[in-house]
Amino acid sequence: MSQTETETETETVPDVATPTWEYDPAPEARELAHIRSSYGLFIDGEFVDPAGDGSFATIDPSTERHLAEVALAGGEDVDRAVAAARKAFGPWSAASGRDRGRYLFRLARLLAERAREFAVLESIDNGKPIRETRDIDVPTAAAHLFYHAGWADKLDWAGLGPQPRPLGVAGQVIPWNFPLLMLIWKIAPALACGNTVVIKPAETTPLSAMLFAELCQQAELPPGVVNIVTGAGETGAAIVSHGDVDKVAFTGSTAVGKAIQRELAGSGKRLTLELGGKAANVVFDDAPIDQAVEGIVDGIFFNQGHVCCAGSRLLVQENVHDLVVDKLKRRLETLRLGDPLDKNTDIGAINSAEQLERITSLVDIGEAEGGERWSPACELPSSGFWFAPTVFTGVGASSRIAVEEIFGPVLSVLTFRTPEEAVAKANNTPYGLSAGVWTEKGSRMFWMADRLEAGVVWANTFNRLDPTSPFGGYKESGFGREGGRHGLAAYLAAPALEG
Ligand code: NAP
Ligand code: MG
Repeated sequence: MSQTETETETETVPDVATPTWEYDPAPEARELAHIRSSYGLFIDGEFVDPAGDGSFATIDPSTERHLAEVALAGGEDVDRAVAAARKAFGPWSAASGRDRGRYLFRLARLLAERAREFAVLESIDNGKPIRETRDIDVPTAAAHLFYHAGWADKLDWAGLGPQPRPLGVAGQVIPWNFPLLMLIWKIAPALACGNTVVIKPAETTPLSAMLFAELCQQAELPPGVVNIVTGAGETGAAIVSHGDVDKVAFTGSTAVGKAIQRELAGSGKRLTLELGGKAANVVFDDAPIDQAVEGIVDGIFFNQGHVCCAGSRLLVQENVHDLVVDKLKRRLETLRLGDPLDKNTDIGAINSAEQLERITSLVDIGEAEGGERWSPACELPSSGFWFAPTVFTGVGASSRIAVEEIFGPVLSVLTFRTPEEAVAKANNTPYGLSAGVWTEKGSRMFWMADRLEAGVVWANTFNRLDPTSPFGGYKESGFGREGGRHGLAAYLAAPALEG
């Protein structure tokens, strides 16, 4: 046994009560978000009424308060949006990369200028804390625009072959967990490469996309380059199956992703799928334990665990299990759950009643299957959708909470003894989106990264996303990459890609 192991084994958490700090409320100004009573579709550069008279409501999940009525796009509206995108494709793809880059830089600057407004709106419509929208969602979205603006005139040097060509009209469908960020992840590379888009935001979170439509007008983006159609699953299906769409990019659940892949097989349409995950966050006994605890918290409680790459399975080396779990519980006692617009809030609302129901039922199953459930004492608000941060210990490898994506603030703790066992357990999942490794040894990080079947492996950090770094999955987490040079390949036709 190494010196480190002996020391770690004997370390105990000092028995001192965690100081409690009283916080005054620090609400961000709600009025910064100008929410209209109703929204039309954004087609050909204008807000238009849908062909039918259907609409649906979006609510604030932290209060269940009605926010706005949003147009429900049907097949006819999708036809119209695709026709606008097709018409715009000729001039947009013929424009110089420098000109396209200019528009993207303009969008990036406008988004950065109006960042507070976007952050407040996103928190209200989605339920996530303002601290996250302000510090992560919105700045990262702007960074993606800046990054791809820089690529627009350098595509010949992207290593994808000479003179790569855009694909045409991209049909894109995104989920509700990072509404603005996913929107930009999809739109920025498509536009930089000379494609035009028809995109559908998720039903519960359409508002930041509609504000982005205003930004497109403000930036004087040529009409038809970006078209945003709101609606339900059927609207998404109409985009995916549309005969004049050349490329489909989908982010969402594995079940819908599989159905899309089946449908598109043989159609000649290019497809990328960013689907679910059940990431392992692996903590070795030589890890900086306090830092690892922060990483575990960030891994699964960031954005209420509504994160495809969330570290939802903690694999901890057996001899430090008790220490890590004790420290983790103490840390969780300090998290603040409540009003998403309060700047001190760590945990916001669950996005919808449906998602809350799914989390609750999987957690009940976890208990029934013998897992030991723990949550810090925390009072849940009386209205809205809420779920306390939850940790399960004693979880069996085949328990449903160890296998299925919960997509909520629920951590399943499992143990391992050797690196080989850690790899075997981490890879024992149909998913392969991300993984984390905590150790002080660089050689062990690389050893693990070589063996973990995951698109992204973080070492001594977690959930770190950057526009220059490609993101995407293996196995049932999908295929294709977003971000980085690799992400451009999804929107270009080039001999190097076709050969
Ligand atoms: P979802 O039900 O698959 O929905 C995703 C999007 O697809 C929504 O806009 C949805 O519309 C639409 N949709 C539903 N049925 C469709 C169909 N038959 N054809 C085309 N579009 C359809 O997933 P979700 O529950 O909203 O999102 C959570 C999932 O997304 C999780 O599994 C998560 O891991 C995954 N995710 C993955 C990534 C990644 O990068 N890998 C990122 C974020 C989330 P409605 O909103 O109207 O249902
Ligand atoms: Mg909403």
